[in-house]
Amino acid sequence: MANIETKCVQGGYRPGNGEPRQIPIIQSTTFKYNTGTDMGKLFDLEASGYFYSRLQNPTCDTVAAKICALEGGTAAMLTSSGQAASFFSIFNIAQAGDHVVSSSSIYGGTFNLFNVTMRKMGIEFTFVSPDCSDEELEAAFRPNTKAVFGETVANPALTVLDIERFAKAAHAHGCPLIIDNTFATPVNCRPFEWGADIVTHSTTKYMDGHGSAVGGCIVDSGKFDWTKYADKFPGLCTPDESYHGITYTERFGIEGAYITKATAQLMRDLGATQSPQSAYYLNLGLESLHLRMKQHCKNAQTVAEYLSSHEKISWVKYCGLKGDKDYALAQKYMPNGSCGVVSFGVKGGKAAAEKFMEALTIAAIETHVADARSCCLHPASTTHRQLSDEELVACGVTPDLIRLSCGIEGTEDLIADIAQALEKI
Ligand SMILES: *Cc1c(COP(=O)(O)O)cnc(C)c1O
Repeated sequence: MANIETKCVQGGYRPGNGEPRQIPIIQSTTFKYNTGTDMGKLFDLEASGYFYSRLQNPTCDTVAAKICALEGGTAAMLTSSGQAASFFSIFNIAQAGDHVVSSSSIYGGTFNLFNVTMRKMGIEFTFVSPDCSDEELEAAFRPNTKAVFGETVANPALTVLDIERFAKAAHAHGCPLIIDNTFATPVNCRPFEWGADIVTHSTTKYMDGHGSAVGGCIVDSGKFDWTKYADKFPGLCTPDESYHGITYTERFGIEGAYITKATAQLMRDLGATQSPQSAYYLNLGLESLHLRMKQHCKNAQTVAEYLSSHEKISWVKYCGLKGDKDYALAQKYMPNGSCGVVSFGVKGGKAAAEKFMEALTIAAIETHVADARSCCLHPASTTHRQLSDEELVACGVTPDLIRLSCGIEGTEDLIADIAQALEKI
């Protein structure tokens, strides 16, 4: 199974003779054993198997195995949401007193998680621009830095991260690079091929793709050698007293230690697990991910080009546009296309933007992106409506900004709809 298309369709599941062709939904919280000894071995992580669906469930593991294959990793787990995946990815290796370097160009929910909630837990964050100089990046590190975090294509800023450069800096300080690959998906970019160590996803977006189920995923490349920095990562390299003195790197190797620890400790204690039913929907989405991403990207590219030549549009941000500041990075990391999200400004500011959106008939007004159906959002009149025009500019959301998530409808229909809506302003 070398091709990404084949992995999308068949990865993670090989039914045996007479077994169901589609993945079974194991809707069971618990699993039966003949003896207490059999089950005890599972609790001690001496045997692999299922005992309680808060920690692991066969349906969820099947779908995690598919995403693991798509990213080219060695181990993966599903989580209840993208937020849970982002939180676990860092909390698995950092605790109170530790520090993390993060790109400042990340999803708003992740920024709040890091900057407010995880700070309350005693973890410090330094945010750096994805366009910062090597010196600025270098200066962000401290002796207690445990990880570097960024997004392949950032939501909503649509900047592209120079993954190789950030990986090099992270590794020079004995830290793994964690990449949120939600917008690009493994169809368009596989961060492990560029030096990233851990990948996270909000599967709610393109992977599910149909607005059906909230979910997340974490994948380990299995390449980061925790044992080389055993003092930095005691949770992985010294005995876990809450698991009968197991040392994760010894028992599961550098390929399995990180995900096993996240399952055995974080899932056990925090329980942000995905339901088997949601995992089933996610798998249905993954089966067509490679086909959908092509059409999302084609629509976004055509829309971005159309808008940038339109007299009523003041600016367009899409990394597939030749003049875009991230064009070269996008060509390097995502030569086959990036994502379906385009942002732009209409002349006439807030009022014109609202009028334009109301006139659209195909793209619906929604707080969502990366769906099969086109949708759009005007932050100034919705998510950021409490801010004044000056405050909007200060946080990078201009009053005229519209974020359009191009779905997989016909390209001509999308363009015609945008054209008629622009005529109305
Ligand atoms: C939506 C999103 C998240 C959060 O995911 P949820 O599934 O909504 O919890 C994280 N990162 C990115 C890039 C996202 O777009």
